[in-house]
Amino acid sequence: MNILIKNVCLPEAGEGRHDLYIREGRIAGLDRAPEGFAPGTVIDGSHKICMPGLVNAHTHAYMSVFRNFADDLPFEQWLFEKIAPLEDALTPEQSYWGNMLSIMEMIRTGTTCFVDMHMFPRMSVKACADTGIRALITRGLVGEDRRDEGALRRLAEAYDEAAYAESQPKAQVSFALGPHAIYTCGEDLLRYIAEQAAEKGMAINMHLSETQNEFDNCMREHGMTPTAYVQKLGLLDVPAILAHCVYLTGEDMEILAKPGLSVVTNPASNMKLGNGFAPVPEMLRRGINVCLGTDGASSNNALNMFRELGLMTLAQKGAAKDSLVLSAEETLRIAVQNGYQAIGLGEEGGRIREGCLADLILLDEDAPNFQPKHSWKAALVYSSTGYEVTDTIVNGEILMQDREFTGIDAERVNFEIARAVKDF
Ligand SMILES: [Zn+2]
Repeated sequence: MNILIKNVCLPEAGEGRHDLYIREGRIAGLDRAPEGFAPGTVIDGSHKICMPGLVNAHTHAYMSVFRNFADDLPFEQWLFEKIAPLEDALTPEQSYWGNMLSIMEMIRTGTTCFVDMHMFPRMSVKACADTGIRALITRGLVGEDRRDEGALRRLAEAYDEAAYAESQPKAQVSFALGPHAIYTCGEDLLRYIAEQAAEKGMAINMHLSETQNEFDNCMREHGMTPTAYVQKLGLLDVPAILAHCVYLTGEDMEILAKPGLSVVTNPASNMKLGNGFAPVPEMLRRGINVCLGTDGASSNNALNMFRELGLMTLAQKGAAKDSLVLSAEETLRIAVQNGYQAIGLGEEGGRIREGCLADLILLDEDAPNFQPKHSWKAALVYSSTGYEVTDTIVNGEILMQDREFTGIDAERVNFEIARAVKDF
């Protein structure tokens, strides 16, 4: 579909109003119509701000069925006593509706792309195909070693899912291998997954160094930090997205400051589960590609990236007792460009430039919390709630227009979610 966004405020392009031309999923022109351009849809941008969409670089979309269900608990009790037994009983269909609910919330609050780890093969792909959002999908892998039947079955499901996506041409998805964490995967299995990723040219998406316990146990069992341990096993020899990284030494950060590696900070989840604050300013100083994620809805409890980016910068300033750490500009870069970088779209995504992906959002310029118009960067980081987003475009397709979903039946999703959770 050809789209013309007319007369819009584009903080990236400087003062004044601009026209943005979209064709075949890409930005085809800025203030100058590309040759032969006939707009199919014209969006009046005269009261709107346009920016690239946000990337939620770590979540578990199916988990929104567990939102507001198990709160105010210690990490291990929350995960192993409350969530894990429910997860074991969840059906693929219920997980599909969890995915749909999460994607609805993400589209509603300006996320155009997310990185997912799940337990229900094909359901994320199906939900992405049904909604049009972009995603990097990973089947969570757990088990002991390369002979573990359960682990091999899950790995086979990961490959099957990637093959299944070929039959879903509408799904804007790519795939990585997802060893869940060092405390849910044995050493040999982690080594095997690293070998598989290298052989198949796939990236790794995993949790790393999230809690003090994980760090201390790794030091005791392996005599090294979690980061050094996964490096030793080969998991950092391929592109990798590492969620959390709250507990890092200086040497760990040296390891992680390598092209192809990305760290995803999840401030709300880390604070809520009492895990602390990732050393974001220090990681940035050392050149690590830091991204931002919400984690799942049961440890957050929202998948709203505007809320998350505000929390991130405030938490970091508070933890460092330094108002100069993490400026609004750095915060936006973490939530947008660095996220696209993590999923291998660094050149094409997160920018308003000719030839780049048309993954864009529009926000209500007249929202009271955006007045007066001193600084859009400050407004987006410190004032926004996410619900100023009016339009969400992914790959040149309009997924939400004037706050109405174009392809999602929100009432049906809410109904199915209520039905899915009634026996919890
Ligand atoms: Zn997670």
